[in-house]
Amino acid sequence: MKYDYLVVGTGLFGSIFAYEAKKRGKNVLIIDKRPHIAGNIYTEKIENINVHTYGAHIFHTSDKTIWEYINQFAEFNNYINSPIAIYKNEIYNLPFNMNTFSKMWNIKTPQEAKNEIAKQIANLNITSPKNLEEQALSLVGKDVYEKLIKGYTEKQWGRNCRDLPAFIIKRLPLRFTYDNNYFNARYQGIPIGGYTSIIEKMLNGIEIRLSTDYFDFIKQNPDIAEKTVFTGSIDEFFNYRFGHLQYRTVNFETEVVDTENYQGNAVVNYTEREVPYTRIIEHKHFEFGTQPKTVISREYSMEWKPGIEPYYPVNDDVNTALFEKYNELAKADTHVIFGGRLGNYKYYDMDKVIEAALKTVAEELH
Ligand code: FAD
Ligand code: UDP
Repeated sequence: MKYDYLVVGTGLFGSIFAYEAKKRGKNVLIIDKRPHIAGNIYTEKIENINVHTYGAHIFHTSDKTIWEYINQFAEFNNYINSPIAIYKNEIYNLPFNMNTFSKMWNIKTPQEAKNEIAKQIANLNITSPKNLEEQALSLVGKDVYEKLIKGYTEKQWGRNCRDLPAFIIKRLPLRFTYDNNYFNARYQGIPIGGYTSIIEKMLNGIEIRLSTDYFDFIKQNPDIAEKTVFTGSIDEFFNYRFGHLQYRTVNFETEVVDTENYQGNAVVNYTEREVPYTRIIEHKHFEFGTQPKTVISREYSMEWKPGIEPYYPVNDDVNTALFEKYNELAKADTHVIFGGRLGNYKYYDMDKVIEAALKTVAEELH
């Protein structure tokens, strides 16, 4: 065996594992099928702007240990995510807060907002919400659901809100204060200079092979390492023997626009069904950029097919049950550790991926 560990995937999970293993004197090889490192947090410079190639990434956590961990590799700015939602010709603040409600109903106080929501859901009789629609209605009422949630969610997930799990909408804060901060997290920001350099630092001194697909590589190098850390799709690893897990993917249409400020905000969501994209990102605003031009990305959400990049696991009942079958195989394989968004088939944010990676490190590399 040439290496102690073969790590598959240079995203956050694989790179943290590789970094910590090397620190403990292990011999590590890390591979990625993409031509670059950093997985979905990859950023690249266009017009001197750090562009989030695989979608907007805002770091946020309430866990001080995680915050301090990531701060070893970057300094973070004071960006606070405050997206705008456009529904037809109406503009609202997100997440759902007093700015949203006062504009929607021309009211001023939290009590008025609560009364309006209560009135809108009075005869729906939702006691314990069973799906995303019931969850959303019971939290914010009919108007906000229909204008700001239904269309966006059905575009994003390609499924009816009644067929989606309630937890997806619980990711968003709901506040009866005038506060447009999209996250409740204690710590938040964007790494100054982009995310790629975080991964560069983690992988410093580690052997990396890019444009290398695990499944081809392992056929030619079956005895390359004692153990494998796999952060690709768990169903692909097992050759889809129980069938395909479903994923959503995003098509990013990125464009340089010859204007200094295109939309005045980093994130603008288009919540009506008829607009084909879910949101437009203007990358420079993540870092308060003053460059003469700007770069925008329209995000089109699509169902995943073999051969394209999977992004979002679809954690509904059918897929969760299918994942469990794969997970049984994974647990039985003592030479392979599965991790990350695709390996664990979990809708993890970056902070949760770091937490999961550090947990794996603690279990595996004592
Ligand atoms: P990945 O970054 O996907 O890394 C997996 C790597 O494995 C990839 O580089 C892939 O090429 C490689 N790989 C896969 N299969 C193989 C194979 N067979 N052979 C070789 N290599 C392989 N989180 C936040 O905290 N804040 C946000 O604002 C945020 N926004 C997001 C927006 C979008 C559009 C998406 C999709 C995710 C967002 N996330 C956000 C989540 C964040 O991207 C993930 O939590 C994190 O990047 C996952 O890291 P990972 O290492 O698990 O996976
Ligand atoms: N959502 C919505 N309207 C919006 C923004 C979000 O209905 O304007 C819903 C949608 O169902 C989405 C979920 O809230 O999947 C979580 O949003 P988030 O911004 O956390 O999604 P992600 O970061 O995964 O893109």
